[in-house]
Amino acid sequence: MSTVVVINGTVILPDRLLENGRVVLRDGRIDAVGKGTATPRGATVVDAQGGYISPGFIDVHVHGGDGADFMDGTADAVRTACRCHARHGTTTIFPTSTTGSREQIAAMLSACAEVKSSHTAADGARIAGVHFYGPYFAPDKLGCHSAAGRREPDAEEYRTHFATGLIRIATCAAELPGAVEFYRFARKQKCLVTCGHSNATWTEMAAGYRVGLRHVDHFWCVMSSVSSLRERCGTPMQAGMEQFVLALPDMSTEVIADGCHLSPELLRFAYQMKGASRLCLVTDSSRAVDMPEGMYRFGNRDDGPLFINAGDVGRTLDETNLASSVKGLDHMVRTMLAATKASLPEVIRMASLTPAERTGMADDVGSLEVGKRADVLVLSKRLQVRRVLIGGECIVPSPAASVGEG
Ligand SMILES: [Zn+2]
Ligand SMILES: [Zn+2]
Repeated sequence: MSTVVVINGTVILPDRLLENGRVVLRDGRIDAVGKGTATPRGATVVDAQGGYISPGFIDVHVHGGDGADFMDGTADAVRTACRCHARHGTTTIFPTSTTGSREQIAAMLSACAEVKSSHTAADGARIAGVHFYGPYFAPDKLGCHSAAGRREPDAEEYRTHFATGLIRIATCAAELPGAVEFYRFARKQKCLVTCGHSNATWTEMAAGYRVGLRHVDHFWCVMSSVSSLRERCGTPMQAGMEQFVLALPDMSTEVIADGCHLSPELLRFAYQMKGASRLCLVTDSSRAVDMPEGMYRFGNRDDGPLFINAGDVGRTLDETNLASSVKGLDHMVRTMLAATKASLPEVIRMASLTPAERTGMADDVGSLEVGKRADVLVLSKRLQVRRVLIGGECIVPSPAASVGEG
């Protein structure tokens, strides 16, 4: 029986702010949310010092951090990346595969299963499931992923991966042969079904939608546009992923709000068009988070493509293109708030409740509501991460996360 009470902060609820609030955590769950400073007997007190009390963040698209990529395929690498993102406020994480060999993806899944089944707060962000992302990408929309690790959907392969029971988000490019069967299968497994790294037409998206496709990965990045479809299909010009997501109310998407991938206008536009309940903030970060500038591998540490950590973002070796972000979700939250006219509860929603709803986890995580997991952040007034509680247990913030007092 352990009770923690977080006091002296503004509580961020999904629809409003609650000033002079307190959140009581008991045995790993949220026990009460309200006003005042009343402290249950014997409770450990966490003083928010006038800052914010926020739900822990949920990242549905993330490759690594602190030198480790989930595709390294070891429990050590998985724990390193999960601890790194916990320091940036992520308490629920969906490790995301890149393109790679079948064996590399199997190793990634088994390392994630090992860490998930033995999770303690010291391991950092809790793995809710895996985002099966690579390898079923379109050959002309690979971005920074290895071409050797790309292939067409292979039912025998993906059925084996899904048999782990770990996959909760499933990506495939909609125009590939077998994409519809993949989507149908993933939907039966109750996954969030998504299209990414794709040059799909509206017609191909619609075929996917009929069997459960409801999300598109990193909006505007390596996806189809009217001009890319003109190159593929000629005239008349065609609608693609962008129009499909904007036109259909139950399609959701995500933005890499690091300030380097998308301009403030695009961030604002995505928010205005889709709203906070259909737009997720993701890091899509590589292993270079919290690491010095220099050269790293994207994906597996032995044969993943090299890229440059330029400090603010990853860049391809020839510096002509971006290669994933190098920031945590706290940075994305601050950037989104600065770029849009969204309220703080709405921006936090895009990093917590919305990804929880889209992945079917909103009964358990995603907001400060009684009964949900005691995954709570204390943020400064400038939204720097001060304290991270996972299941009611305090994770000491890293020195890096404490720099720049707000
Ligand atoms: Zn991608
Ligand atoms: Zn990615």
